[in-house]
Amino acid sequence: MNKCSFCGRTEKDVRMLIYGLDGYICDECVEQAMNIVKETRHSSGKDAKLTNLPKPIEIKEYLDRYVIGQDAAKMALSVAVYNHYKRLNHRDDADEVELEKSNIIMVGSTGTGKTLLAKTIAKMLLVPFAIVDATVLTEAGYVGEDVESLLVRLLQAADGDVKLAEKGIVFIDEIDKIARKGDNPSITRDVSGEGVQQGLLKLLEGSVVNVPPQGGRKHPEQQFIQVDTRNILFICGGAFDGIEKRIAQRLNTHVVGFDAARNVAKIDKSNMMQYIAPMDLKSFGLIPEIIGRLPVLTHLEPLDRDALRSILTEPKNSIVKQYKKMFEIDGVKLTFEDAVLDYVVDKAVEFKLGARGLRSLIEVVMMKPMFEVPSTYVKEYVVTLDFARQQVESANIAVLKESTEDK
Ligand code: ADP
Repeated sequence: MNKCSFCGRTEKDVRMLIYGLDGYICDECVEQAMNIVKETRHSSGKDAKLTNLPKPIEIKEYLDRYVIGQDAAKMALSVAVYNHYKRLNHRDDADEVELEKSNIIMVGSTGTGKTLLAKTIAKMLLVPFAIVDATVLTEAGYVGEDVESLLVRLLQAADGDVKLAEKGIVFIDEIDKIARKGDNPSITRDVSGEGVQQGLLKLLEGSVVNVPPQGGRKHPEQQFIQVDTRNILFICGGAFDGIEKRIAQRLNTHVVGFDAARNVAKIDKSNMMQYIAPMDLKSFGLIPEIIGRLPVLTHLEPLDRDALRSILTEPKNSIVKQYKKMFEIDGVKLTFEDAVLDYVVDKAVEFKLGARGLRSLIEVVMMKPMFEVPSTYVKEYVVTLDFARQQVESANIAVLKESTEDK
C-alpha cells in the first residue's frame, strides 16, 4: 500500500496522498512543510538585510516597461522606494544620523496612471505592499472602515508577520476624497473628511497603532495586534479635480508686479498641474499637518494623443499585445491596421475617455470577432478601419463613457 514518505501513514489514514517521482506526501505533511517554509522565510526576512537592492535607475527602468511617460512621478517613486530600503538596512546603525522617511503624494487626473504605477512597483518590491482606497475610510465610530484598516491590509500582505508589515509600503488612493469639504469646517461634522485626516496623520507620523486582527470594526473585548508605523512608507495618490484653478489663481496673484508679464508668458496653461505646490493641497482641503507628512509632492501629466497611442502598443502588457495573445492561444494571428489604432485614440480624445477608454473602445471593436472567430477555421484576422468604425459607431457611447468612469 502507498505510504506518505514523510510520516509513513498509509493511503487509508490520510485524506490525500500526492505522488512524486520517488515517493508520496500526504496533505497534512504538505501543510506542515508549508508552515516551516513560511516561518523560515519570515524569520530570515526579519533581521536579514535587504541585499542587492535595485537602484533608483533600475526601478525606473522597470516602471518604464509598463507605464508610458510620467517621468517626474516615476523618478520620485524610484528614489522613495530605494531610500526606503536603505533606511530599513541602516536603522539600527549606531551613529546618530537618523534617516527619516519621505512619504509621497502623487497628484494627477484620473486615468493617468497613478494606480498603475503603484501596482507596477508592487510587482518588483521586496517588502509587503498594500493598496487601499481612502474613500472607504471614515472617522472612528461611523459607518465605514477605521483608518487602522490600512494596516490590516498590510498585515495580510505580510502573511500576518507584524515585523515584516512594519517595513512595508502602503498606497492610499483617492486621498483627495478625504479633503475637508468647504472652507468652513465647523458647520456640520465632517465625518469622512477632517476626522479621517486626523486619524491618518497618526499613522503617517509614526506611532504604535492597535490593529484589529480580522479587520473590520474594533470591539472592546478584541485582542489587538500592535503595529509600529514608523518605518512604513506611505504613498498617496489623488486626482484633486479642479485643483488647476487653484494653482492658476495662486500663480496669477503671485505674478502681479514688476516682471509679471514675463512670468505669465512662461506659464504653460495647458498643464497647470506641473506647478502644483503644497499650498494648493491646503486650499483644496488637506490639513497642513498631513501635507507636512507628505514631503515629496509629484504630479502626473495629462495624457496627450501621442501618449495614448503609445499606451495601446508599447507597454509590456499593452492592450494590443493582450488581444494578440488571446487570439494566438486559438492559433489565430491578429493584426490591427495602424489606422484603427489612430482611430481609437481619436475617439478616446473626442469623448474624453482617457486611457481607460482605450480598452473599452478596443473591447467594442473586438466583441464580434471574439465571438465568431473561435468557431471558424480562420488562421489570420485583420482588424480594418472600416470595421472598427462600424463597430464604434453602432455602439452606445454613453454606455462606453459610464464603463470608464470610476474604475
Ligand atoms: P489613475 O489611478 O490615475 O486614475 P490608472 O492607473 O487606474 O489611473 O489608469 C487606468 C488605466 O489606464 C490603466 O489600467 C492603464 O491601462 C491605463 N493607463 C493610464 N495611464 C497610463 C500610462 N501612463 N501608461 C500606460 N497605461 C496607462
